[in-house]
Amino acid sequence: MRGASQYSPGGAEADAESRSGYEPSGGRGLSCGRWAERGNQMRLLLIGAPGAGKGTHSGLLAKRFGLTHISSGDLLRQHVKDRTPLGLKVKSYVDNGDLVPDRIVMNMLRKPVLAAASGYVLDGFPRTVEQAKASYDVVRAFGAEVQAAIHLDVPRQELIRRLLARGRGSDDTETVIEHRLQVYRDNTLPLLEYYAGREWMFTVNGDRPTDTVHEDIVARIQKLASFTASTS
Ligand code: ADP
Repeated sequence: MRGASQYSPGGAEADAESRSGYEPSGGRGLSCGRWAERGNQMRLLLIGAPGAGKGTHSGLLAKRFGLTHISSGDLLRQHVKDRTPLGLKVKSYVDNGDLVPDRIVMNMLRKPVLAAASGYVLDGFPRTVEQAKASYDVVRAFGAEVQAAIHLDVPRQELIRRLLARGRGSDDTETVIEHRLQVYRDNTLPLLEYYAGREWMFTVNGDRPTDTVHEDIVARIQKLASFTASTS
């Protein structure tokens, strides 16, 4: 097993990146690159509602395959905690369960994603069709486009139960949870529809023991990788 790493914000440097004036351009959405393009590493996306287990499964996949785990939510929370200029800008969005404006999130993620072009698991981004479209041209230019998108499907009642049990802080109160689930329905479900039918996206039932879900994801990734290898 190779070591996993978790990207953490680089203080002033990360903030300079956020002010770099990067403007997302139009695009066709993330697409499936060749598995072997960059030293056989994987570039994975985890999509799921709040509480679906994106963080847990991203961590397990990162460990299993030696990938860098990049979580937009963790990075944003770290900025808020460290009271960086970016953190002060996004605090009210995160606390209220609203989406942080695309430009801020994209500027924050561009550097870690490109730095980990040889292998990453991206957790929490893209969250909207706009983010998916806007990020496509950037990552493609670096041969860093996603190879598989994994949708973790968990029933609403179970999501609410997990989020209340987790009680992470200001964004895990009952009212904010309701709002975040609504934001997910309004913004992220259209993303799943947008990706639907692409051979590199699959849904797994996330309402099972963690190990079972993990092994299911690994099996699906391996199947996809061998399929892609045999057709490319
Ligand atoms: P969860 O999946 O439990 O909602 P995350 O840790 O992924 O939690 O995200 C926490 C918060 O960070 C979101 O409610 C939102 O405010 C912000 N956020 C994370 N990722 C994005 C993104 N891609 N676009 C906009 N806002 C984001």
